[in-house]
Amino acid sequence: MSMAILTSSQYQNHRLINLIVVHCSATRCDRSYTLEDCRRDHLARGFANIGYHFYITRDGMVHAGRPLYQEGAHAQGYNKYSIGICYEGGLNPAGQPADTRTEAQRSTLAALLHHLHTDYPNARILGHRDLPGVAKSCPCFDVVI
Ligand SMILES: [Zn+2]
Repeated sequence: MSMAILTSSQYQNHRLINLIVVHCSATRCDRSYTLEDCRRDHLARGFANIGYHFYITRDGMVHAGRPLYQEGAHAQGYNKYSIGICYEGGLNPAGQPADTRTEAQRSTLAALLHHLHTDYPNARILGHRDLPGVAKSCPCFDVVI
């Protein structure tokens, strides 16, 4: 693996970041699944905290999850050097995978990715399903950067 040059913010965070992974919560878009719901479910799975670093609810608010300086729990085999972002939704009312992002979620995600790209210019940005060996549809849309 090639090592990217540390930027100042990476240095401040004491963690090298070479990947930014976008996820969905895989919950129905007509049901509420808050940051605290997600954190509770992740704690129940034995995680130390919510596995994502950012969580974007349907109203477009971005919530801080796990601190950036801590390794996340969102992409098996890729947590050490990555940041995990999740949006609330990803399943349509019938429970099937779908891009259910609201306009507010789309614009917030775009702004957050732009901000992170500025801080971590060497990091690749992709969707969970774009990682090798992942058989999920998460995040149910093409993350193209
Ligand atoms: Zn995912």
